[in-house]
Amino acid sequence: MTQPRSTDESPRRSFWGWGHEDGGLDATERDALRMMMEARLGVAGLSELAAPRLEDLRMPAPRITVPSALAAILSQDRYERAAHTYGKAFRDIVRGLEGDFTAAPDAVALPSNEDDLRRVLDFCAENSFAAIPYGGGSSVVGGVEARRDGRFDGAVSIDLRGFDQVLEIDRTSRAARIQGGVLGPAIEEALRPHNLSLRHYPQSFEFSSLGGWIATRAGGHYATLHTHIDDFVESVRVVTPSGVLATKRFPGSGAGPAPERLFLGSEGALGVITEAWMRVQERPRFRASATARFVDFRRGAEAARQIVQAGLHPQNCRLLDGGEALNTGAGDGSRSLLLLGFESADHGLDPWMERALAIARGLGGEVKEGAGVTRETGEGAREGEAGTWRSMFLKGPYLRDALTRLGMIVETFESAVTWDRFDAFHAGVLEATTRAATEVCGSAVVTSRLTHVYPDGAAPYFTVIAPGKASGRVAQWDEIKIAASEAILAHGGTITHHHAVGRDHRPFYDRERPDLFARALGAAKSALDPQGIMNPGVLV
Ligand SMILES: Cc1cc2nc3c(=O)[nH]c(=O)nc-3n(C[C@H](O)[C@H](O)[C@H](O)COP(=O)(O)OP(=O)(O)OC[C@H]3O[C@@H](n4cnc5c(N)ncnc54)[C@H](O)[C@@H]3O)c2cc1C
Repeated sequence: MTQPRSTDESPRRSFWGWGHEDGGLDATERDALRMMMEARLGVAGLSELAAPRLEDLRMPAPRITVPSALAAILSQDRYERAAHTYGKAFRDIVRGLEGDFTAAPDAVALPSNEDDLRRVLDFCAENSFAAIPYGGGSSVVGGVEARRDGRFDGAVSIDLRGFDQVLEIDRTSRAARIQGGVLGPAIEEALRPHNLSLRHYPQSFEFSSLGGWIATRAGGHYATLHTHIDDFVESVRVVTPSGVLATKRFPGSGAGPAPERLFLGSEGALGVITEAWMRVQERPRFRASATARFVDFRRGAEAARQIVQAGLHPQNCRLLDGGEALNTGAGDGSRSLLLLGFESADHGLDPWMERALAIARGLGGEVKEGAGVTRETGEGAREGEAGTWRSMFLKGPYLRDALTRLGMIVETFESAVTWDRFDAFHAGVLEATTRAATEVCGSAVVTSRLTHVYPDGAAPYFTVIAPGKASGRVAQWDEIKIAASEAILAHGGTITHHHAVGRDHRPFYDRERPDLFARALGAAKSALDPQGIMNPGVLV
């Protein structure tokens, strides 16, 4: 059978881990990491799992016969099926390393226009196949995984990489029309010649797409104010099984519930986002950054609260606890670090930074003399502890894969909670997670940071590193995650601030949302997707 385009792209994406097949840490770096982890966890003799080989994977034969009319769009190539089986959560990486691809989709669709896409959706609807939109495949909540529960006779993963253009730029209104499958770096590359930027940088930026960001309400690098992709979406165009829905562009509108908002966080369950008009910005010229060190994490959190409640809106206002600072090399573990950064395309930032640092100092924060002065080089935010943290942040996914190969359990989870509950929430979730991880694994390091802060609350983020037992690491992690999720709900937090619901958070999401809202969402799904083929198992 002729295979659709792009199966021979080089370098190819890894079918089990982060990045390209030839990316990741080299053997020397992995060895250094092993020694560091042995010392940190007080364990010896960690051995490394080999990377899986395509020919060894356990993958069922496809249940779908591709009709000749769709042969140019639907692939059943082994690599494509493997690469579209999972997202990139720890439990996905482990199953990939173990060669378990029993959840592989029966076919991968590679449409490059809306006609192709409609034909794929019609084919799925006529034959009772699940249709699962796939952007960058960086979901960490089981968002792109076909679960074989017998409800459908097959599953088609719909890869949007053919929707890869920035179509139009409206310089006057400062907005851009961008297709759903464009990955982060390509968006910035297309906007740079116009001195514009979307400035949405999730950690997964390199391998996640505009459509995926909108469908999951992704959180980017703005720690305050424009925290989610939501704030940049002007209008969307969505291909649903019931037809095409395109919303109008307005800078703001009070005309009833906003239709484009229905698709923010729709997780592929209502249709495929093929394009969106996005609000873009001038590229920043002025930057100011500084770090305040706190003996007590809670004093740092209090400083973050006062800074954001003062209306200062720093782009970076990330508070790392001592362990997190140590993990990323930004500190020695004895202090919590509040990383502060302001940026602007228009003006110097000294008054804002001075006020933020005065608040931090007032709460006992130690700040280096002369820190935080505005620079026009654009490099300010990349120096010092902030720079060290940022480079480790970008390396994080590769380190995570290397640690997983060493038999570790290494995963993150996040939430948001109002300030009035913050202290109890933070202590309670940390305690419940550390207890569960220690019970399951014998020892564990659980660290935390604040990724985003609001006038009324904060988004805490937790990292768990523990030596997994030889087999059953997915079940071990699931046990820890359930304990953490129960603590999150018990202390008034949301099951996710930006990672989305997917299949993994579904039971907790169902407890969080009002029943009547669930029914209303179900009714919207019935209108847009009457046969329920769109990403079944998420949200509805
Ligand atoms: C190492 C790492 C770091 C991460 N850091 C962040 C972070 O900083 N902030 C953050 O918010 N998230 C983060 N994530 C999670 C993930 O990157 C985000 O959820 C991201 O928005 C997913 O985009 P994607 O293109 O990869 O979507 P996918 O993983 O392909 O899909 C995610 C969901 O969106 C649906 N979908 C995808 N494209 C479309 C479309 N065009 N139309 C309709 N539905 C669609 C899918 O069906 C699925 O339900 C991280 C993940 C990893 C692995």
